[in-house]
Amino acid sequence: MRSHRPGRLALRRLLVAVLALVLGVLLLPAGPAASRSKPEEPSRPPVLRAQDLTGGSTDDSAVATGAMGQALTTDTANAAAASGAGVSTAASARTLVLYDTTGAWGWLGELYGTMTANLSSQFGSWTAKPVSAYTPGEVDQYTATIYLGSTYDEPLPTAFLDDVVASSRPVIWMYDNIWQLTARHPTFQATYGWMWSNFDFSPVDAVLYKGRELSRDPGNQGGVMTYATVDPSVQVLASARRADGSTFPWALRSRNLTYIGELPYVYFNEGDRMMAFADLLFDALAPARPERHRALVRIEDISADSDPAELRAVAAYLSSRHIPFSFGVSPRYMDPLGVYNNGRAQTIRLDQRRAVVDAIRYMQARGGVMLEHGWTHQYAKVANPYNGVSGDDTEFYRVVENADHTLTWVGPVAEDSPAWNRSRINGAADDFRRAGLATPTIFEYPHYTASATSYREVAKVFGTRYDRTLYFRGVLSGGAVDHSRMVGQLFPYVVRDVYGTRVLPENIGNVEPEDWFQYKARMPEQIIRDAKRNLVVRDGFASFYFHPFFDIDYLKQTVEGIQAAGYTFVSPASL
Ligand SMILES: [Zn+2]
Repeated sequence: MRSHRPGRLALRRLLVAVLALVLGVLLLPAGPAASRSKPEEPSRPPVLRAQDLTGGSTDDSAVATGAMGQALTTDTANAAAASGAGVSTAASARTLVLYDTTGAWGWLGELYGTMTANLSSQFGSWTAKPVSAYTPGEVDQYTATIYLGSTYDEPLPTAFLDDVVASSRPVIWMYDNIWQLTARHPTFQATYGWMWSNFDFSPVDAVLYKGRELSRDPGNQGGVMTYATVDPSVQVLASARRADGSTFPWALRSRNLTYIGELPYVYFNEGDRMMAFADLLFDALAPARPERHRALVRIEDISADSDPAELRAVAAYLSSRHIPFSFGVSPRYMDPLGVYNNGRAQTIRLDQRRAVVDAIRYMQARGGVMLEHGWTHQYAKVANPYNGVSGDDTEFYRVVENADHTLTWVGPVAEDSPAWNRSRINGAADDFRRAGLATPTIFEYPHYTASATSYREVAKVFGTRYDRTLYFRGVLSGGAVDHSRMVGQLFPYVVRDVYGTRVLPENIGNVEPEDWFQYKARMPEQIIRDAKRNLVVRDGFASFYFHPFFDIDYLKQTVEGIQAAGYTFVSPASL
């Protein structure tokens, strides 16, 4: 910000003046950045509202993939440091995750810290703490440090600002407060070869990385940092593309510092620029990791109500192609409101449908790994959110549908407790046993939705989950769990999350030939497109699921398209 190239500044002033004329509005030419000590503050917090999940693009997920919740007027939480183990003993890196905590949106810091801790577990152990609790020398005690600047002007400890520059260890810095680092070190620009300028609030709809175009929700108004100078010595790792086609650096690296001009967790979805960040972590934490691209396919929502012929058909096809697969079973089918049974309540245990059990055995004999997809995949005798029927509704969390078909994640169900959750796990085990089937060892949450209590109880019984996951304020920091402030996360690779469970990734969704409630239609082309985007992750996954009641040609197209993109399908049992 201190030494603009004069030519560039003049050009920028000219462009601003031309723009002002074209728009017919009076704009003051932007002054030199030297007159500012920090960029303009974004006006809108990077938080999802329920309605943000449905607007805009054609492939929005109905599951939250971004922070949701209200501002806090007073935040009395005193976040403690937390730590967790890596996904395997072979993963030996150590990551320090530092997050912001102050201000009305300070709680976002813990959620971003949670997501970062989860991803870091792919590489080894992690410690996460508020940046305010940083102690001198810590950067040098870890393989790499990741700082998540989510509160504009969070007061940063000078020891941290000094250690970032003094250390040779990799530091990844995201979004806010880079101006505190450059103010603390007047030689920053000379040393690192770049200088920030301001946040760009124009719609940015893509991030270009490794020759691929990753999606970014243009409704994200958090801004992306622009630069006053970027010397040729600086590595531009990825570029942001505005809706008008112009581009500017999205992530930079020089010396030990990688800077990303936004928080890639905000409004993220399938094929998103979050995958670029997920790949940059290898540079810092596992630079020798070879390129490898694996795929997973899961057959979804099997219950006593399933058509055995459809189950046999998908298993026969996949085994004929030598494709390992898994399938999720909810062992008790319930329709308490009689929605599909002429108004009469209906319950069917798996053992009451021998043809389905035989089809499950057929799938297992062809390499299919059975997963536990909850017990009933619905809750009580109410719409949660749709109709109370197994497969349609949520089991472990209260969700309601609004008049505009958006969903509100209300909170834990009234009975939520360790004992209630355990009783459902036990109920499922009993039903599998009655049907003569071994209880699965991998759990998949119905609609990817549960309370923190439920996730923790499942963690005691199952070593592995296979889903996208909700994380709540208080889970990482050790405070009271606040279910009204949460974030949903999908994974590029296998992690061990903050609930202590290994999580297998599902990250490119499923075939939906038509809109289904809030779930948008999604065709094999879109799934394959996002699989190709995931190729930017050097050791990542393309993982999708398929409902056997849809045309099997969709399954074939998707599987073969993903293979053609360069992926090898593997069994979840191998991970
Ligand atoms: Zn399901």
